[in-house]
Amino acid sequence: MRVGVIGGGQLARMMIAPAVELGVELRVLAEGEGMSASLAATRVGDYRDAETVLSFARDVDVITFDHEHVPQPVLRALVDAGVAVHPGPDALQYAQDKLVMRRRLAELGAPQPDWIAAESPDDIRAFLDDHGGRAVVKTPRGGYDGKGVRVVSAPDQADDWFESVDGPLLVEQLVDFHRELAQQVARRPSGEVVAYPVAETVQRDGVCAEVIAPAPRASERLLEVAARLGVTIAEGLGVTGMLAVELFETADERILVNELAMRPHNSGHWTQDGAVTSQFEQHLRAVLDLPLGAVDPLADWSVMVNILGGPTDAGLTDRFSAAMAAHPVAKIHTYGKEPRPGRKVGHVNTVGDDLDDAVYEARAAAGFFA
Ligand code: ADP
Repeated sequence: MRVGVIGGGQLARMMIAPAVELGVELRVLAEGEGMSASLAATRVGDYRDAETVLSFARDVDVITFDHEHVPQPVLRALVDAGVAVHPGPDALQYAQDKLVMRRRLAELGAPQPDWIAAESPDDIRAFLDDHGGRAVVKTPRGGYDGKGVRVVSAPDQADDWFESVDGPLLVEQLVDFHRELAQQVARRPSGEVVAYPVAETVQRDGVCAEVIAPAPRASERLLEVAARLGVTIAEGLGVTGMLAVELFETADERILVNELAMRPHNSGHWTQDGAVTSQFEQHLRAVLDLPLGAVDPLADWSVMVNILGGPTDAGLTDRFSAAMAAHPVAKIHTYGKEPRPGRKVGHVNTVGDDLDDAVYEARAAAGFFA
């Protein structure tokens, strides 16, 4: 079995180990030389070019993704050529455009913040008047790690985006959330679907910093409602592979959908060391339409702490061995990326029966790379 992954980032890289274990040959279409996933058989090429992608897809059994940026016409060309694409273009459109997602989630009856498609500053003004004078404006396409998200309190504060973005902007109610959660599910083309326990995610400056699974203090009801919502969305949108549903939890334990990712996701890195089946193995199983693996946690608590930026001096190797020596229970994952301020260059996973201990070990080990 051969899986072709479009995109050479760390998500593709982390599919390599489970691919080896499953006996799956992984091939990567990378954006450049020396990327995170170049440990696998890699071809360098432009994922926006249909010819390049069709030629890459020629000798694999299924095409899947490290990111959601492959343009719809390229995805359609693959499908028209008879290539198995998971998730397919019909599903991926909802992860590519937040306005398209909001409209579809409304049809599905999924709980979400109040929102409008704003064509002009006047639309923003009307929304601000109805929502206490503050709102969140988003560019529908191309945002990541908080880029393309802005809190506004005046109608002219998105003027630059009205000029640069083709089409309306998404305006959302500024949710006074108690915390952020992420629900992951996997679904295979033949329909089998499984849901991981909902996790708590902590964002700093719009970037995921830490994850705890299952979400602390989650009631049985919350776990059930979040899992059911994830399954409803995966089925309603026809998602195949891994789906992450990013959620806001309000003080009264209501959940609202923030956004969707149709691939392995940072909120699920804990599954590498904390679940029977990691999200990376599960993604491969799902896109190959193989039976899905168990999603049970291996310990009461799993903690993931991102390594952001990393040291820019030459001391990386020393820091590795120091972190390993000081924290032998911490599982340190690295992405083979050049450290740059704020860049995700690795993460640390810990598991255990005591949450405070697991958090301490993960933070302390990650702290060696600050
Ligand atoms: P990105 O696509 O860049 O990840 P998101 O839509 O996930 O952008 O938003 C990034 C972060 O901004 C969220 O994790 C959350 O902390 C905050 N945020 C986004 N939308 C809202 C909202 N409607 N209300 C309050 N905070 C929000």
